[in-house]
Amino acid sequence: MDYQALAQLLFPDVTETPESLEERFPQRQLPEGAVVTRMAPSPTGFVHLGNLVQGLTAERMAHQSGGVLFLRVEDTDAKREVPGAVEVLLETLKHYGISFDEGATIDGDNGAYGPYRQRQRASIYHVYARKLVSEGMAYPCFATEEELAAMREKQEANKENTGYYGKYAMWRDRSMEDIQAQIQAGNPWVLRFRSTGSIENQFKFDDLVKGKLTITENDIDHVLLKSDGIPTYHFAHAVDDHLMRTTHVVRGDEWLPTLPFHIQLFKALGFKLPKYVHIGPLMKMDGTSKRKLSKRKDPELALTFYKAEGFPVEAVYEYIMTILNSNFEDWRRANPDIAPQDFKFSPKKLNPAGSLFDYAKLTDVSKNVISKMDAETVCKLLTEWALEFDAEFGAKLAADPAFATAILAIGRGGKKPRKDLSVWKDAKEYMGFFYDEYLQAPVFDEKFSKDTVKTALEKFLLVYDFADDASVWFEKVKAITEEMGFTTDMKAYKADPDAFPGTVADISTMIRLAVTGKTNAPDLHAVMQVLGEEKSRARIQNVINML
Ligand code: GLU
Repeated sequence: MDYQALAQLLFPDVTETPESLEERFPQRQLPEGAVVTRMAPSPTGFVHLGNLVQGLTAERMAHQSGGVLFLRVEDTDAKREVPGAVEVLLETLKHYGISFDEGATIDGDNGAYGPYRQRQRASIYHVYARKLVSEGMAYPCFATEEELAAMREKQEANKENTGYYGKYAMWRDRSMEDIQAQIQAGNPWVLRFRSTGSIENQFKFDDLVKGKLTITENDIDHVLLKSDGIPTYHFAHAVDDHLMRTTHVVRGDEWLPTLPFHIQLFKALGFKLPKYVHIGPLMKMDGTSKRKLSKRKDPELALTFYKAEGFPVEAVYEYIMTILNSNFEDWRRANPDIAPQDFKFSPKKLNPAGSLFDYAKLTDVSKNVISKMDAETVCKLLTEWALEFDAEFGAKLAADPAFATAILAIGRGGKKPRKDLSVWKDAKEYMGFFYDEYLQAPVFDEKFSKDTVKTALEKFLLVYDFADDASVWFEKVKAITEEMGFTTDMKAYKADPDAFPGTVADISTMIRLAVTGKTNAPDLHAVMQVLGEEKSRARIQNVINML
C-alpha cells in the first residue's frame, strides 16, 4: 500500500505540516517546574461540583507553580452543545475564584495557542491525521452501523472482547482500490488508528493521584476522526495538549480505561506524554454505603444549588480544599486567618478512590467562615444574595445598609463570635424580626398568666432607659424579677422549683418575646440598641395592649 498516496487521497487540502505547527505554537518560556494545565469541559451548560474540584486542582497546580491555566472548549459533540454554555461556565468558575490566564472567552479567544474551541481546529487535526496515514498508522474505515453491530454480536456470541480490533478490524488492510471505490461512491468514513498493541502486554505508569498503575496495552483501532472530519476526544486530547504545551492533564478518572490508547497515540505522533492527574469521583453516603453523586438524584451536585442556598464562595472553596487535601484542616487550625490560597496544595494528597462529600460538614465550614467575616462584608454578601433570591428581603436590606450592618454586627468579632448563619438563606429567620413586616406575634409560656406577663412588661417600660449599658439594663431586669417574687438565684430554683413562680430567665424571655417575637434571638440589650428606643418601647407597649 502506498501510504503517501492514501494520505493525499484522504486529505488533499492539508497544506500545513507538523513542523510548521511546532513553529506556530512554540514551547512556552516558563520557569522550571511551572505547570501548564487546563480545563477542557464540554459546553453542556451544566456546571457541577466535579468541575469545581477539577478546576481548583488545576488552578492551584498552575498558579502555585507560576504556570498557566487555560480554558479549552471541547465542542466536538455539536448535539450536546447548549448556547451560552461558555458564558455560564466562565462566570460560575470566576465566581469560585478560578480565572483563566488564556483560552476561550465569551466571544473569542485570548492567547497565542488557540483557537481554543475544538471545532475551529479541524484543519490542525487534519495535519496530524494526514501524517499518521502517510506513515501507515491510521486508515479510513467504511464499516456501516449494521456491520459494526453484527461484529459485536459475533464477539458476544464467541465470548470475546468486543471492539474493532485484530481480525475484526475489517478495513485495516483493505486495498487502495477498495478505498477509492468507496470514496468515489461518496460513502462516509471515519479515520481509525492502526493499533500495534497487544492485550498480552502490560507496562507500568505513574499517575499523580492514583500512583503506580499497571496498564494493559490497547489493541483496539479506535476512531480518530468522525465522519464529519471532527476528532474524537482521544485524538483532540493528544493534538491539543501537545500543541498547547500542556504539562499536566487534570481530568476525571472515567478516562483511565482509555489512557492506554492515549499513551499509544502520543507515542505514534511523536509527542512527549504529559503528566496525568486522574481525579476520583465525588461520593456521598447514602444510608450506610457510599455512592457517586448523581446529576439525577442529587441537587447538590449543581453549582447553582450552592449559590441559591447562599453559601459564600469562600466557604465552598474552603470546604473543597478540606476534601481535596487531607492536611488542609490541620493547616487551617494552625493558620486560622490566612487566605486559603496560601495553603500548599498537592495533587498527591488527593484520595485516589474519590472524595467523600459531606453536606453537614460543608454547612459547618460555612458557619465558621461566616462567623469570621466582619459585619460590612456579611451585609454586602447577604444583600447581593437576597436581591437575587429573595427580592423583598433584599430590598429591605438594601434600603438601609447601616441598619442591616448594625444588626449583623451583634455578637460578631471577639474570640467567640456568634454562629447563627450557615447560609444566607438562614438570615431572614435569624434577623427578620428587626423589620416590622417580619415580626411575629409572641407566644408566651402558658405557665404564666396574661396579667403576670403584662405586669413584667409594664414594670420594664417604667425603668427602661435607652442609655443604660448592658449590665445596668440587666440589673433592672433582675430588680423586676425580685419585685415579682421570681428568683435570680438559679441554683435555689433548681433545688426547689415549686418555691418560685419562675426565674430571671422567664422575665427576660417575656421581654424578649415582646421585642422580637422569638425566644432565641441574640443578646436582647444589643438588639434593643440597634432597634432604637422608640421602636423597642412601641413593640412592648403594643404587646401590653394586646394582652
Ligand atoms: N471534555 C472532557 C471532560 O469533560 C475533558 C477531559 C480532559 O480534561 O481532558 O471530561
